[in-house]
Amino acid sequence: MFTLRAAVMWTVNDFPAYAIVSGWSTKGYMACPVCKEDVTSGWHAGKVCYLGHRRWLPWDHEWREKDKEFDGNTERRLRPREWSGDEILEQLNRLDFAPFEKTVSRTRPSTHMSWTHKPMLFELPYWSKLKLRHNLDVMHVEKNVFDTLVGTILDIEGKTKDTIKARLDLERMGIRRGLWMNRDSDKARRDLAFFSIKTSLSFSSF
Ligand SMILES: [Zn+2]
Repeated sequence: MFTLRAAVMWTVNDFPAYAIVSGWSTKGYMACPVCKEDVTSGWHAGKVCYLGHRRWLPWDHEWREKDKEFDGNTERRLRPREWSGDEILEQLNRLDFAPFEKTVSRTRPSTHMSWTHKPMLFELPYWSKLKLRHNLDVMHVEKNVFDTLVGTILDIEGKTKDTIKARLDLERMGIRRGLWMNRDSDKARRDLAFFSIKTSLSFSSF
């Protein structure tokens, strides 16, 4: 006979479940559980979008200096601060949370930012010491990236992200003039993008 012991090393989950296991809401303008309130997000083409990825590049990376190729701005900010597990636990301990069943209809006080609850996993004495507590299951991420990329390059209706709304957003931001709506005639037209490899073949669906 022996005593079997087990330890939770980390969780592997999709993005919606990240909110449950981490306690940080994965919806809205502060949806990134890593960047938290320091996330770069904005309203683009009818959705909340997350930008500012160049903040993670080395300080002297040439892409930081480019503006037109990206969102019209150069990037001079450092990467967001990385919070340790102990710091997160300390933050959570300072906040009051309603009992789980009652949180549904309550609006969060601004002090809570996007914290919705203190995850049970913090009951584990070592949980706050872990460098990596949550992993995204790549299966879902890969499929979404693939579908979006292929759908956009082949300009498949319903799949492409190169929509009229997206084109109007580029106009609003004043970038990528070559992708703006074509207004040569009375009716504005969305010409096929330079990156599209759409052929005369029609793809019904994948
Ligand atoms: Zn982030």
